[in-house]
Amino acid sequence: MNFDFSNKVVVVTGASRGIGAGIAKGFADHGAKVAITFNSSNDAAQSTLNSLKGSGHKSFKFDVSKPDQVESAMGRIHEEMGGLEVLINNAGITKDQLILRMKPEDWDQVLETNLRSVFACTKSAVKVMLKARQGSVINITSVIGQTGNGGQSNYAASKAGIIGFTKSIAQEVASRQIRLNCIAPGFIQSDMTDSLTEPQKKAILEKVPLGSMGEAQDVANACLFLASPFARYITGQTLNVNGGLYMS
Ligand code: NAP
Repeated sequence: MNFDFSNKVVVVTGASRGIGAGIAKGFADHGAKVAITFNSSNDAAQSTLNSLKGSGHKSFKFDVSKPDQVESAMGRIHEEMGGLEVLINNAGITKDQLILRMKPEDWDQVLETNLRSVFACTKSAVKVMLKARQGSVINITSVIGQTGNGGQSNYAASKAGIIGFTKSIAQEVASRQIRLNCIAPGFIQSDMTDSLTEPQKKAILEKVPLGSMGEAQDVANACLFLASPFARYITGQTLNVNGGLYMS
């Protein structure tokens, strides 16, 4: 497959590092103008931006969990980048705790950052895409949203919510040729998984049939496919990028 995103503007949230940075790189490698967004990692965002191939890329700093910030930032992105053809909702956090110890603030923060952000960013992007009668939104969920995981009820709820949200909006906007899909990564190398202990990593890897952790590039490749014309007849789906950890 030969991906060509020249003259397309691709917005990747949470692209200062980790999977988001890998997705931004994947699209830049295939000709897109990429808007990377981040919240706090200024230096990482600058270095990701500097590493992107091609020209016309920009970074935008805002908190995806704050709807007012999202609305104004997405407006600025559209104006300054000169379009908005693809949105990748990737920004996400964990705040793990068993239910009896989980503070309401930890629940709220994860739901606001991982799920409400997807609603807010998608709403802004779809407004533009409806006028253009084209567009692709890819939401990064997680295998945890499919299987659940003790100690991650807030994270699992946010990621399962993304899947239901994606299917719903996919139905609302399909008639305008706007497609929404999810990618559900399994166990991917990043700061998020670096915080796991070695025994935790070993236990997870034993359950991965392909026998290794995934890389940001694996998720990026799935994004390129779903955002491309090769996936023109695919909407409302979840593509698992998990080495076989969960087969649905
Ligand atoms: P990561 O390395 O921790 O990076 C998270 C990214 O999200 C950073 O760029 C961060 O930006 C951004 N972010 C966090 N809170 C934000 C906020 N309030 N507003 C704006 N940006 C915010 O995580 P990752 O492992 O790459 O994960 C990326 C996505 O994949 C997440 O949605 C995660 O749930 C999902 N996922 C990851 C794995 C995995 O194994 N790694 C598996 C399944 C799903 P700043 O640093 O600038 O704040």
